[in-house]
Amino acid sequence: MHPTIRMNNGIEIPQVGFGVYQIPASRTTEMVRVALDAGYRHVDTAQVYGNEAEVGTAIAESGLPREDVFITTKLNPQHHGYDSTSKELEESLRKLRTSYVDLYLLHWPSPGKDRYLESWRACEDLFAQGKVRSIGVSNLTVANLAWLAERSATVPAVNQVELHPNFQQDDLLRYHYSHGIITQAWGPLALGNSLSDPTLQGLAEKYRKTPAQLILRWHIQLGNIPLPKSATPSRIRENLAVFDFRIDADDMGRITALDGDPNGAPSRTMGASLPRWQP
Ligand code: NAD
Repeated sequence: MHPTIRMNNGIEIPQVGFGVYQIPASRTTEMVRVALDAGYRHVDTAQVYGNEAEVGTAIAESGLPREDVFITTKLNPQHHGYDSTSKELEESLRKLRTSYVDLYLLHWPSPGKDRYLESWRACEDLFAQGKVRSIGVSNLTVANLAWLAERSATVPAVNQVELHPNFQQDDLLRYHYSHGIITQAWGPLALGNSLSDPTLQGLAEKYRKTPAQLILRWHIQLGNIPLPKSATPSRIRENLAVFDFRIDADDMGRITALDGDPNGAPSRTMGASLPRWQP
């Protein structure tokens, strides 16, 4: 069993999650099975990925006790609203073949709809009912988090955001650290674009690891939860073999210095693919 981190509600979350975004539904059950066999105990899916049912099948068929696998899913922002949030969670639970999820996230803000707070209230109630063991947010900025904090006493357990060596989001991480919010890193490998960076390649050689493993280890030492995605069994296994070495402080600094490197991988968030919500 690999290490876990304790969230602000006392619940432990395994420190590497298997991301299933863009894994076609037809391959998801097989890939989640590979991941569970490799030792992953944390799967990150979402309504919009269209593969919750296949994740559910893999977990149900794995023979693992339900409580041994940490399942995250996310509400499609199209369904923001109090009643629709509860209704859509039921649909996700049915597909995932479980009576609860370990973490339920509001996938991204949808300012046009302006029903974020209603959904958050529904999440608080679903938590009280035991249908979700933790609740969190995704793709929120510092301003968004401060806005939410003024309106709700419930601190999100996590904020799942784009994060990788070329896009380190310092201010956001500082806010997370000081408010007890765990950072989940999506795009932890910058979609594979960071892997050819010469600094990362050199360091990977030094530690006798692959560039992907080096980057994932960097996330872990920062206290982040990376969610690497792969549909290649050898890479799925490779991405979990990151707990048997430690990057020293100087080398952590070298990776930190890559932030915003114009030759590095661009951020997808900064490219405006996601709505920026400025309440
Ligand atoms: P990622 O950084 O994990 O990149 C995935 C790509 O990297 C793969 O397609 C593969 O080509 C490559 N790769 C993976 N392991 C490798 C290895 N060992 N060696 C070489 N190449 C490797 O990015 P992602 O898939 O966008 O994000 C990961 C997960 O984060 C998703 O599956 C999803 O669960 C989550 N996510 C969440 C949001 C959100 O809005 N909350 C957005 C995007 C992704």
